[in-house]
Amino acid sequence: NGHRAGGEENGGGGGSFKMPEIRYTKLFINGRFVDAVSGKTFETRDPRTGDVIASVAEGDKDDVDLAVKAAREAFDHGKWPRMSGSERGKIISKYADLVEQHAEELAALESLDAGKPVGVTRVVDVGNSLHSLRYFAGAADKIHGETLRMSRQMHGYTLREPLGVAGLIVPWNFPAVMFFSKVSPALAAGCTMVVKPAEQTPLSALFLAHLAKQAGIPDGVINVVTGFGPTAGAAISSHMDIDVVAFTGSTEVGRLIMEAAAKSNLKQVALELGGKSPLIIFDDADLDKAVELAIGGNFFNKGEACVAGSRVFVQEGIYDRFEQKIADAMKNWVVGDPFDPRVNQGPQVDKVQYERVLRYIEQGKTEGATVLTGGKPCGKKGYYIEPTIFTNVKDDMIIAKEEIFGPVMCLMKFKTMEEAIARANDTRYGLAAGVVTRDMDVANTMARSIRAGVVWVNCYFAMDSSCPFGGRKMSGFGKDDGMHALDKFLAVKAVVTPVHASPWF
Ligand code: NAD
Repeated sequence: NGHRAGGEENGGGGGSFKMPEIRYTKLFINGRFVDAVSGKTFETRDPRTGDVIASVAEGDKDDVDLAVKAAREAFDHGKWPRMSGSERGKIISKYADLVEQHAEELAALESLDAGKPVGVTRVVDVGNSLHSLRYFAGAADKIHGETLRMSRQMHGYTLREPLGVAGLIVPWNFPAVMFFSKVSPALAAGCTMVVKPAEQTPLSALFLAHLAKQAGIPDGVINVVTGFGPTAGAAISSHMDIDVVAFTGSTEVGRLIMEAAAKSNLKQVALELGGKSPLIIFDDADLDKAVELAIGGNFFNKGEACVAGSRVFVQEGIYDRFEQKIADAMKNWVVGDPFDPRVNQGPQVDKVQYERVLRYIEQGKTEGATVLTGGKPCGKKGYYIEPTIFTNVKDDMIIAKEEIFGPVMCLMKFKTMEEAIARANDTRYGLAAGVVTRDMDVANTMARSIRAGVVWVNCYFAMDSSCPFGGRKMSGFGKDDGMHALDKFLAVKAVVTPVHASPWF
C-alpha cells in the first residue's frame, strides 16, 4: 500500500536534489530588496514537518503604497510602457532564459515551500513558467488595433494601450505558475505591477523578482510585496492608484476584492476563482484511461488545484468495474516526502488547509458517503492526507457541492447523457470539465452543453499558455493564458477623424 507518508522517515530526503538556499526574504520595491516599513516579518513553513523555512518581510498598507508609487512612476515616466513591443519581447525572452538557467533552484524552492513532488515542480511548475514567459514575449509585438470605416466621411482606428499599474494577487498552489500567469501578459502589455504572493508560499516570487532585474526589466516595473491578504492584499484591491486588479484564489476573497474595487476607484477586476468540476465517464470509455484521468484529475498536486475534477460521474454500465479498478490503482499511489522521486503526492500546503480537508472528509462520512480508499491523515508529522475516494455520494451532500481543495474525490453513477449534463451544470461554479468517451457525437454535445471555461475531451489538466483559461459563474471572469489574457491589461482607445471628399469608396 502506497499510503505511507513520510514525515519522519523521509523528512530529510532529497536524493540527488539539492536543497535550495533561501536568499531573498525581503520586499522587492523599485528594484531593491527592502524591509517592511513596520520591520515586521512572518514565517513560512516546510509542509513536510511544520518547521520554519525562513522569516519573510511582512508587507502592509505602507509598503503597498511605496510599491504603487514606484510602479506609478515607472508607468507614467519610465521606459517600459513606451518601448516597442519587440523590445519588451526581447527582455521578456531574456527573463525566460534566466529562469531556465535557474530551473533547478526554482523547482526546489517550489517543492520546499509548497510541498510538491520534485518531479512535478521540475516539469510542470518550471515548464509552465517558461512557456508563459516565452508565449507572452512573442505576444508583445502582436498587440494591435483595428481600422474602422465608420461612414464615407468618417474614419476611425483603435489603439490598444497599456492600462496602467496592475495589482496581481496570487495563491499558493502553483506559486511560480500563478506569478507568471499574471506577470507575463502584464509585462507584454506594457503595464507596471505590484505582485502579492500568498503568505504560505512567498519564496519563489522574491526569487523571480531578482531574476527580472537581472534580465533588464526596469526598476519599478515589477514590485513584490509579501504579506497577508486582509492587510497587504486588501491594500492593493482598495488602492486609489491601481488601475486593474487580477486575482486568483477563493470565491470568498474574490468577492471582497470586487467590493474593495467598487468602493475605491472602480478599478477593473479579473477573477480566477474556485471550482467543483465534473469529470464525466461514459460506458464506451477506455477504462484504463478513464481511471488514470480520474486519479490525475483529483490527486495531482494533492488535489490543490482549482480545476480538480472532483465530481466524477461514471455511467452505470461500467460503474462497478470502474470502482474496482480505481480502488486497485490507488494501491500504487505513493504519499510521502516530495523530495523523494518515487512519491506521487506530498503534504497539503499548511496546517490550515490540512485541517480543512480533514473536516470535509469527516463531513462526508457523517453525511453517509462510503469511503472507498483513504479517509485519514497519514505520517507521523507534517500535513499528509491519504487520497480519499467517496462512493454513494448524493448531489446535495456538502462534499459534492463545496470545493475541498484537497485529495478527495466524489464518485457518482449516472444513466443518460441528459442526466449527466444536468448534474454537471448543477453547481454555482463553472471552471472546467472533462468528458471521456469514444463517441464523437457524445463528445461534441457534451462540449457544447457544459457551462465551464474549458472542456477537456479524453484528457484532463491539459493546459498551455496558448489556451485561454478562466471560468464563468462563481468561478470568476477574465482569462489567463492565450491572447485573451492581454485584454485585462490593455485599454482600447478609439480615434476618429473625418475624411474629406474622397473620390474613392
Ligand atoms: P485565498 O483566496 O484565501 O488567497 C489567495 C490570495 O488572496 C492570497 O495571496 C491571499 O493572501 C490573498 N487574500 C486573502 N484575503 C484577501 C483580501 N481580503 N484581500 C485581498 N487579498 C486577499 O485562497 P486560498 O484559500 O489560500 O486558496 C485556495 C483557493 O484558491 C481555492 O478556492 C481555489 O479554488 C482557488 N484557486 C483558484 C485558481 C484558479 O485559477 N481559478 C487557482 C488556484 C487557486
